Formats: sequence, C-alpha cells, structure tokens
Amino acid sequence: MPNASGYAAHEPKAALAPFDFERREPGEHDVAIDIKFCGICHSDIHQGRDEWFAGIFPMVPGHEIAGIVTAVGSGVTKYKVGDHVGIGCFVDSCRKCYECTTGADNYCTVAPVMTYNGKDHEGQPTYGGYSDKIVVDENYVLRIPENLPLDGAAPLLCAGITLYSPLKHWNAGPGKKVAIVGLGGLGHMGVKLGHALGAEVTVLSQSLKKQDDGKRLGADHFYATSDPATFEKLKGSFDLIVNTVSAADDWNRLMGLLKTDGAMVVVGAPENAVPVHAFSLIPGRKTLAGSMIGSIAETQEMLDFCGEKNIVSDTETVAMKDVNEAYERVLKSDVRYRFVIDLATLKN
Ligand code: NAP
Ligand code: ZN
Ligand code: ZN
Repeated sequence: MPNASGYAAHEPKAALAPFDFERREPGEHDVAIDIKFCGICHSDIHQGRDEWFAGIFPMVPGHEIAGIVTAVGSGVTKYKVGDHVGIGCFVDSCRKCYECTTGADNYCTVAPVMTYNGKDHEGQPTYGGYSDKIVVDENYVLRIPENLPLDGAAPLLCAGITLYSPLKHWNAGPGKKVAIVGLGGLGHMGVKLGHALGAEVTVLSQSLKKQDDGKRLGADHFYATSDPATFEKLKGSFDLIVNTVSAADDWNRLMGLLKTDGAMVVVGAPENAVPVHAFSLIPGRKTLAGSMIGSIAETQEMLDFCGEKNIVSDTETVAMKDVNEAYERVLKSDVRYRFVIDLATLKN
C-alpha cells in the first residue's frame, strides 16, 4: 500500500511527475524522517537520463535530504523525535568489507545501497528525497547542527561533502593554492569550504559572468577558461585543482596549471570519456585522481565544521511542480548556486 508521495521519472529521459509508493515501517534501528527540503544535484539529471548506466525506473531522485525525525525504532540511540537530520547519497552498506571497516563506507565494494536508483539489501528499489518521507537505519543518518537552516543545509549532504572530502584529503589549507573548476552547486561549496579551511582559492569558470558572486563566496581570484590567456598566466600555479565540471572538458590544459607534485581531483562525472595525454602527467610528477562524496563519519565532520563556521549553500527554493524547469536551468549553468525543493509544495 502506498504510504509515501513524491515525483519520479517513469522512464529514462521522462519529465518528472507525481508518484505514490511504499516506504517500509521503521524497524528496530530505523529513523523515520519527514523531508522538508531536497537539493537538486546534477547527478539527479545524469541518472534520470541514463547518462551513466541503465537506471531503475520509476526513479525518485534526490540525495541532498534535510528533514525532521518523526519516529524512531526501539533500538535507536542516536536520534529522537524532533531532531534535525540529513540523508546523503547512500543509506546502507555491507558494514564488513575493508572500506566499511576503515572509515571509507562511501567506497563499500560489496553492497552499497544508494539513496535512489539502487536496491536495498532485500533487493527492493530505493527511492530518494523528491518525496515527503524516508526511513533510514540510524547509522546512515546525519545530524544537522541546529543553527543551520534546513534549506541551506540540504546541499551539504552531497555538494558539501563531495568538496570537503578531497579538500581535506589533499590538505587544502593555509599556504596552499587551490583551483575550483566550474562554479555550480559543487563548485560554490568548494569555494566556501576551501576558503574556510584557509587555502588561497581561484575559480576557473567558463566566463567572467559569475565573478562578483565568486568573490563574495570567498574566492581570491577568478578566471575565465574561455580566455586562452588564463592558461598562460596560471601555468604551474596550483597545488590542487578540484574539477566539478559536468561535461567533457579539456583536462590536459587544466593539468598544465598544476605545480610539480600537484593533483587534479575529478569529482564532476561527465557522460563521455575524457582523453588524457601521458605527458600531461609525467613532467612534474602530477596526479590525476577521483573522489566520490565522503564517508558517513566525514560527512558528520563536515556538517559540524559548517555548523561552527555558519556555512550553508546559496540556494534558490523551487516548488516540486517546477522541478523540470529547474533541471533545464541547471543544464544551462544558470543556477545560483543550488536549487532546493520545498517539500511543503508537493501537493500544490
Ligand atoms: P552544476 O550545478 O550543473 O555545476 C556544474 C558546473 O560546471 C556549471 O555550473 C558550469 O560552471 C560548469 N560547466 C557546465 N558545463 C560545462 C561545459 N560544457 N564546459 C565547461 N564547464 C561547464 O552541477 P553539480 O551539481 O555541481 O555537479 C557537477 C558534476 O559533479 C556532475 O557531473 C555531477 O554528477 C557530479 N557529482 C559528482 C559527485 C561525486 O561524488 N564525485 C557528487 C555530486 C555530483 P561555470 O558556469 O562556472 O563554468
Ligand atoms: Zn549529488
Ligand atoms: Zn562494505
């Protein structure tokens, strides 16, 4: 019996439309959550259009979930009714593999359960946050600091952690020059977090249109990648580049902007392969790496850091029925800087 409502793509590339479905009753270790806000991540668009792999349909997207606890199972110790909580990109994992037991559960190799477009341990499809409620095991629920508004905090659950994790792993901080490529949902969190960690932050955007915003968000420098002079001027400049671009781009010329021993970390996940020349890496002993969200523990660390520093996403709130128009604007890089769906509008 359906007991939850949301919006789903009923087949690949279809516009999102209302969809009723069933959430499990909270078990002993489960937390039931009323979803208040859910961010729109570019990954929702890639997956709804089968750009990465054949998806599971109907697909209820959404993995930047912020809400309030409405019920807890008898064995739950971490959360109580009324708590402000978040759910990110995964809602369970095998809990036994090397990754799960060494604080890297986001890289679980055995049985990761993605928040949507996945299957749970019973083989049932998972449905995401473009919906009114969700039930998740307490070990995969995050605590949102009380001083952060839920709308601005929602995008921290994917965009925030996806930038925080590589910035920390590659030691962004005082004395380090960091470039963020692409000023969208992920990129703007990279600027805020890189700045808060004490790094010197440069934005590399397609044009200078977002320059004033970039500086306001905390960037020290801002350059256009459409201007060939940018690549001359910044040659050999950066310790770390975090590349958030959602489309196939020229990685070779970006690698040229790294110092010796510098690293470019790819977090943007374009549909098409990107060719890389060996000589973009060999001279200068450069690293080309990838990074995927962050562990549950690191996500909590990031949320606590954002609570202390009062960091949230810059959001534009949209009604559920306007989600398809919001998708089109994301595709045009016309988002300042994260759309967040207000679930109170679900039935409007
Ligand atoms: P977004 O808000 O659309 O931002 C992407 C930005 O990339 C745009 O704002 C634009 O910035 C730039 N861009 C877009 N098209 C471009 C092109 N053709 N050439 C050069 N630059 C272009 O998307 P998002 O939600 O931040 O997600 C970005 C990517 O990260 C997506 O592929 C998404 O699937 C992926 N992602 C990965 C992870 C992970 O764990 N690794 C997590 C979440 C998302 P400018 O206007 O400044 O140029
Ligand atoms: Zn995401
Ligand atoms: Zn595992």
